[in-house]
This record gives sequence, C-alpha cells and structure tokens, in this order.
Amino acid sequence: MPRSASAVLDRAAAGERITPEEALDLYRSAPLHALGAAADTVRRRRYAGAEHIATYIIERNINYTNVCVTACKFCAFYAAPKSDKTWERDLTDILRRCAETVELGGTQIMFQGGHHPDYGVEYYEGMFKAIKDAYPSLVIHSLGASEVQHMAKVSGVTPEEAIQRIKAAGLDSFAGAGAELLPERARTAIAPLKESGERWLEIMEIAHGLGVESTCTMLMGTGETNEERIEHLRMVRDVQDRTGGFRAFIPYTYQPENNKLKGQTQATSLEYLRMIAIARLFFDNVAHIQGSWLTTGKEIGQLSLHYGADDLGSVMLEENVVSSAGAKHRSNLLEMIHLIRASGRVPAQRSTTYEHLRVLEDPADDPADDRVVSHLSSTAVEGGGIGAVAPQRLLKVTPVG
Ligand code: SF4
Repeated sequence: MPRSASAVLDRAAAGERITPEEALDLYRSAPLHALGAAADTVRRRRYAGAEHIATYIIERNINYTNVCVTACKFCAFYAAPKSDKTWERDLTDILRRCAETVELGGTQIMFQGGHHPDYGVEYYEGMFKAIKDAYPSLVIHSLGASEVQHMAKVSGVTPEEAIQRIKAAGLDSFAGAGAELLPERARTAIAPLKESGERWLEIMEIAHGLGVESTCTMLMGTGETNEERIEHLRMVRDVQDRTGGFRAFIPYTYQPENNKLKGQTQATSLEYLRMIAIARLFFDNVAHIQGSWLTTGKEIGQLSLHYGADDLGSVMLEENVVSSAGAKHRSNLLEMIHLIRASGRVPAQRSTTYEHLRVLEDPADDPADDRVVSHLSSTAVEGGGIGAVAPQRLLKVTPVG
C-alpha cells in the first residue's frame, strides 16, 4: 500500500474524518485485511465496553401489496396494476401476521410494498392505527421516502403532512429502503420512475426534523461505479451532519433473478466487505453498520462483523422482496445466535433503537424456541404465513462451522 494511503488509513482508524476522495482511494486500493482491521478498530472504540457484543433483531416483513407503478429494473417483486399477478393483503391477514410476530418474540414489523396507485395517506393511517390498537408494543419500522412521495401525491398533500399523519397513526421510524443508489446516473439507470436521490434525502431530512428517525440502505451491484458508491456515502453523511437521524447504514447486494437487469452485473463478496469497512471509516456520524446476511450469505455476514459491522440485521419471520430476486439465504434464531458466537461475539437481541433487550453472555441461557425461523416467501406457501404450515416445512438449518 502506498505510504500516503497507509497514512490515511491510520488517520481514519484514529477517528479522524476522511474525505470522499480519500475514501475512494482506500476503497479501491487498500489491502482488504488492513481495511478491515482499521474499521474494526473504529467499531471497538465506538462500542468500548460492549465491543464483544453483536446484535440482531427479530422482525417480520409484511408485504401489503405487490402492485406498483414504479417498475424498478432490479425489482422482482412488483406487478404492474393491470397484470394478472397482482395481490393485496387485507387487514385481517395483516393483523394475523402481527399476532404471529408478537407470539414468536418479534419486536418490529417492516411494512413493505409497491407504490399502489390507489394507496394514499389514508390507507397507511388506517393500517397503522389498527396495528397499534391491537399490538401497542409492536414497533412499526416501515416505509421510506419513496412511499411518502407516492402517498403524498395520491392524497394531494405535502410530504410533511403525510409524515405527520402516519406518525400520529402509529409509525415509529422509517426503514431506509428505496435509497438504492442515490447519485443520479446510477439511480436513473435502475429506477427511472423513482424520485431523485436528492429528493429521497430531502424527504428523509424532513422526517428527521419531524422526529421520525430512520435507517439508510445502499443497493450494490447494479452497474454503478466505485465513484458512485462513495458519492452515495457522501450524500448520506452530509444530511446526517445536519439531522443525526440515520441510526444505521445497511449496504446490501443486488440479486439477479427475475428482473429486467438480468444479473448482468453483481457486487462480489469482497466488494461488499470493503464497503462495510469503508462505511465504518467514513461514517463518523452514523452509529450502526449492519452486515446483510440475506443477500450475501451467512459466512460473509459473519466476516462483516470483523470489518466494522456491529449488527447482523434480523431473523426475518417473513421476507418476499429480495427472495423474489433470488436471495436464497435464510436463518433462524438459533442459527443467528450460533453465527454470532462462531464469529467470536456475544449475541444480543436488540430493539429497533438498538437497546440490548437480551444479552446472551452464557450459552446456557440461549433461547430454545426453534419456531423462530426466517421464512423467505409466505406467498409461495398455500395459505401463507408461518401459522399456516408446520415449522419443519419452513426450517432448514445449514450447519455452520
Ligand atoms: S423496488 Fe419498490 S418501487 Fe421499485 S418496482 Fe419494486 S416495489 Fe416498486
């Protein structure tokens, strides 16, 4: 590694802010292990006293409809409004899924769906109010700037009003989906009908100002350049300097099946690990970096904990979006705990706001409920939902280590 790059890495490891240009240099040319070691140093310092812990959450993605007018090219989930493949879930079905989540120790739901041409603010108000009335403890960590832009347009209100109303109805925080790639060229290439990256950030900034915090994602591997990846980080960091409202950064990788991009480009595992490390070094103002096992695989998820990540995401009781595009990795609670332990960390179940709910210092205290499984596609199972099928049909444990 050139002396200049080594000096930048040392500065970053010591906690000094690095520029986007320096981040790009490191991303391109720093040796992988040196990059990971620097990022791990930063993580350990940030979590001094709890650096031996890695967190996870138990949640459920609830997909309310696949109808979408936005037709993103990387998406294998949506159906155009006139397609014969459309579906919508009714409130009874959604409440049943919430009940199962609570029963299995889940603390959060991620309400996720297409941009339905008829779903305005009123639809989400009704859903969130009904969910909170029935399950007040369930955290609604859902939607994002894209959905806000769409529902505000359908209802003829401003994004501010839309956010205030869905917050009053029960929304706790925004998930960071829809960020995709924020720089214009890369975003337009894969999501030409979505709002611009600037607009996505503007709406998130409004939300943070109204007391609705969020996470922020990045989709890697759809043909974006290294410069565009780092520019995505810069755009997020600039907003975070003003709001402090992004709780976590979550890069994940594009899945190639069943979508218009047809997998012509994809991010490699090493690119992913480099991004985790760069994110930890670059984001001196974002607390949490999440490793995504769902799209990259469990072993890369484990490795990410040594490259700056402090969180391994969720045991998702249901997921239909990235699995539609070919993500085949699944996990269950016992395996998630094992993955973290085998990485040399103590597992801790966390809340949406990253408080430790249950720290499993002693393996003897590990939970034994093997019903808490990641079920990748409830729509693929007749009747849908974990309550509709025997657990053994859903659970396929891959031995690790
Ligand atoms: S990613 Fe979201 S907005 Fe884009 S087509 Fe899929 S469901 Fe619609």
